Amino acid sequence: MRGALGGPGVLLRRLREVMAASISPQERLDRLVVLIAGNLVAEVCSVYVLREDGSLELYATEGLNREAVHLTLMRAGEGLVGLIAREAEPLALSDAQNHPAFSYRPETGEEIYRSFLGVPILRGGAVMGVLVIQNRATRLYSEEEIESLQTTAMIMAEMIAAGGLKSLAPPGASIGLDRPIHGIGVSLADGVGLGHAVLHEPRVAITNLIAENPASEVKRLEAAIAEMRTSIDELLERGDVAHTGEHREVLETFRMFAHDQGWLRRMREVVMTGLTAEAAVERVQSDTRAKMLRQTDPYLRERLHDLDDLANRLLRTLMGKANGVAREELPENAILIARSMGPAALLDYDRAHLRGLVLEEGGPTSHIAIVARALGIPAVGEIVNATALVQAGDAVIVDGQAGEVQIRPQPDVENAYKDKARLRARKQEQYRKLKSMPAVTKDGVPILLQINAGLLVDMPNIEATAASGIGLFRTELQFMVAEHMPTTSEQQALYNAVLDQAQGRPVTFRTLDIGGDKVLPYMERVEEENPALGWRAIRIGLDKPRLLRAQLRALLRAGAGRDMKIMLPMIATVDEFQRARMIVRREQAMLAKQGHAPPLSLQLGVMVEVPSLLFELAEIAREADFLSIGTNDLMQFLFAADRENKRVADRFDPLSVSALRALRSIVEAASEAKCPVTVCGEMGGKPLETMALIGLGYRAFSMSAAAIGPVKAMLRALDVERLHERLDWMLASPDGVASLRPQLAALAAEFKVPV
Ligand code: PEP
Ligand code: MG
Repeated sequence: MRGALGGPGVLLRRLREVMAASISPQERLDRLVVLIAGNLVAEVCSVYVLREDGSLELYATEGLNREAVHLTLMRAGEGLVGLIAREAEPLALSDAQNHPAFSYRPETGEEIYRSFLGVPILRGGAVMGVLVIQNRATRLYSEEEIESLQTTAMIMAEMIAAGGLKSLAPPGASIGLDRPIHGIGVSLADGVGLGHAVLHEPRVAITNLIAENPASEVKRLEAAIAEMRTSIDELLERGDVAHTGEHREVLETFRMFAHDQGWLRRMREVVMTGLTAEAAVERVQSDTRAKMLRQTDPYLRERLHDLDDLANRLLRTLMGKANGVAREELPENAILIARSMGPAALLDYDRAHLRGLVLEEGGPTSHIAIVARALGIPAVGEIVNATALVQAGDAVIVDGQAGEVQIRPQPDVENAYKDKARLRARKQEQYRKLKSMPAVTKDGVPILLQINAGLLVDMPNIEATAASGIGLFRTELQFMVAEHMPTTSEQQALYNAVLDQAQGRPVTFRTLDIGGDKVLPYMERVEEENPALGWRAIRIGLDKPRLLRAQLRALLRAGAGRDMKIMLPMIATVDEFQRARMIVRREQAMLAKQGHAPPLSLQLGVMVEVPSLLFELAEIAREADFLSIGTNDLMQFLFAADRENKRVADRFDPLSVSALRALRSIVEAASEAKCPVTVCGEMGGKPLETMALIGLGYRAFSMSAAAIGPVKAMLRALDVERLHERLDWMLASPDGVASLRPQLAALAAEFKVPV
């Protein structure tokens, strides 16, 4: 069996000489293919480079027809070369022409070669081209040869990435490195942002790829691995990591991987082929990333992410860089690109320069998404491999509304987005003008507009929107973005600051709504089949009142001498409300006994979001000081359609007859009992939906700050009297339609109401 001539070490040393020679890029490529073919005893060696349009162009060859260079083109997925690029996996065939994907190109003269070995040219998991060797005879390529070709491909990847081949691209056919990418992910925070990429944790640039002395590289690798293990052990032993629960489990798995023999062996093997320790780590990392991109099983993907994380740590150790980069000054119009990011890290950046955020991970309910929304930074999550596809300084557009990202956009795409951003800015300007106008309908009905909030960064929104207060302060957000359970005094400090900054405008604090999708990393997680229907919110508060009582104390103390409004989430029965009220009364009495000044007044309200309350409406409206409708949960429970499940979340329309009748029954019962009622779920912040709610009789809404302008513009054009009549009629004779949305939209058009 034929093997590599002189071994991989010799090949790499000769490659280094070619890389260092002062010759043209084409000459360099031409010499490289001759060298590789010679060393691997192959008759053919060819390099295909991925072009901007996704096709693969022959850039150099030894053995095939030279005239075919820059002429032969494989479309994406076409032929064996296209297959390798798509799968990002090596392919070794002893009889290539019988492979179903084989595609014959007469200009290359390759018909005489039977065996074929191709490997992807990978960088950061992204395919940049394909490197191929071929032999006339039918033969099997050895593991060692495959390994050797992959190592060589890595060096080519660096050459392509460094821009070395740009000048060789035929006009209009730039190489894939610069190709525009349209990434589809999920929306985390609304808005459109244009700017240039800043990598949250930039890739460590490896300058030295080829080892002088492989034995000492193995030692360097071993030392770095040992250091990495120690640092992970320390991380686990640190007091701030909860000793139980999921967080610790994740870290334990991480530690297990740091000891994974297969992974470590792979890196050692690659070092033995002649690469430096850091180049070996990167090569194995690139393979891991390529696998990760093609992995659909979320568990395996997560584990591959762990390996990727470990590789980053190793690289930093080897390159003498601290783990965790110092926050650098952001340039103007920065779009931050990260694999994942904690909320605190985002808050560290200069908000004034930040135009957008792109994450490889992160769903809409992740903490980072909550903070991005609060800061008004357009953000998109789940953009696969974003950190490898984007280079620092690249033009990037974040479309937070559509959940899409444009990387290195073509001018026409960029212009379209600039128009979109201008249009939004113009609308915002119109809404700003409305700021000083009262929220009163055309026929003189005043409507109360408040904002939803949860963090201190939300507070300037009251002033910016001229809202009359905060109708829903989600206290769990402080808990969700914290590293540890906030102490009672930390809670009190936040509530105090919120009340101070609200400057006398009412703030409705909702007690902790945790559980379900709202998980605290430092708290022991209870495994439940259906967490949304499980042990959450007030249920935890009633069963284990310690946390609720501490929070009530913090709220009551912060409210000393002021008017306080507190509301309770997920109340399902009047009895639950009464029991919770007892706990509040007990805390009030306790504080009085301890000599604390009480709030000037205290109103205790109920979130109406569990449908059972619809059948105890008269009683709850009599008992509670106010009601607030959480339409997000109410709709999910009313229709039995998980709000987090994309398949069913939009299946039922809140503007359907059943939902509108349910909502009408609440406002009627509240007005009967003279109990104030607000809508604080997302339905109340959408102009058409809010119009319908006003038609049903609602007069108070709490919504995201961005929704105030559009809702105010809508209601100022509204004639409530006429709307009420028409809506009543629609609800009386709906003709079995799934939703009244079309009729309501037609009504809005007829009334010339902007929705
Ligand atoms: C709701 O359920 O509508 C609501 C306002 O609360 P959350 O979205 O926080 O569950
Ligand atoms: Mg809710």
